[in-house]
Amino acid sequence: MLKVSVFPDKMFYIPCTVGDSTYHALAASVCSFATAINYPIEPHPEIRIESDFDVPLQFADIVEKYNRLQSYTEVHFVRTSEVSKYVDYIEESWPIVNLFSGGKDSMAKLLSILSQYEKRDIACMYVRGTTINAEFVDEYKVVRQICNNLGVQLLDPIVYHADYGDYSLKVRLRAIWRNMLLIVMARGYSSRISIGDNYDPTFCTDFSALEAYPGSFMNFSATKIVQDSLAQILRAEIEIGSSEIENTRFLMRHHPEILKAIRSCFNPIQPCDAERNWSNACRKCKTNHIYVKLAENVPLSEPELEFVRSKEWLGDPQERKRFL
Ligand SMILES: [Zn+2]
Repeated sequence: MLKVSVFPDKMFYIPCTVGDSTYHALAASVCSFATAINYPIEPHPEIRIESDFDVPLQFADIVEKYNRLQSYTEVHFVRTSEVSKYVDYIEESWPIVNLFSGGKDSMAKLLSILSQYEKRDIACMYVRGTTINAEFVDEYKVVRQICNNLGVQLLDPIVYHADYGDYSLKVRLRAIWRNMLLIVMARGYSSRISIGDNYDPTFCTDFSALEAYPGSFMNFSATKIVQDSLAQILRAEIEIGSSEIENTRFLMRHHPEILKAIRSCFNPIQPCDAERNWSNACRKCKTNHIYVKLAENVPLSEPELEFVRSKEWLGDPQERKRFL
């Protein structure tokens, strides 16, 4: 087996308005962790990249399981630091922070929180940055508008130089660590964090069960098991929303105007029309179009079925299984 050692050459800078400096160090190390293992590499079974960088000691479990689940990178600890104890000193600005991407799942979660909390107690966190969400057409504008209309605070930190590289974007590797990164950032504002969806490919309750599912590392940081570990490290409560199909159905029935307004589209020029122009629509619009059909129990056409079965599908892997 050929081994290559690399260091991440892209650094992150996250401006945060609240939080302890050690918390910033934690966020920075998670960011460099994400960058290092998303380094543009060719996924070849004979090549395994070794990455040495600063990862907090508390992430040891997560890193170890990640290394076992996938075959492209091997992550090592260079230095370790004790960070959990500092998390207690973070000034909590909000009773609850909802990670808000502007998509249907975080939208459905926000509406459910609104039925349990006062508006003034809720903040939505939308992260801006070169490759975090910036590729979506007008997304930030829509997000601002929704928060404004609903009367909830929008927190919109910027992540600079979050360059995951072409390769990562192509194969969706960045998704592996995105959730984890966002949770760490949200912890700077609140110890109660809510998330729209959960891609646990196994619904398993321990790490060893995860190993039985090849490819599960692709959604590793979004799995419940990693989020539970993160909750423990960060001393936070993490609430997870319903499935994508339930979220779509809920919005269709109760807030069709919001479902229409929210948009996550990869097309940089203009939003796609998956209904009328299927072949030119982006993966995100195709996926959302299919969720609407599934929520209404409308049978899928042959090209749509082909899409769900392909690697282009951006929805819940569990959903794909039904059509294989
Ligand atoms: Zn699109």
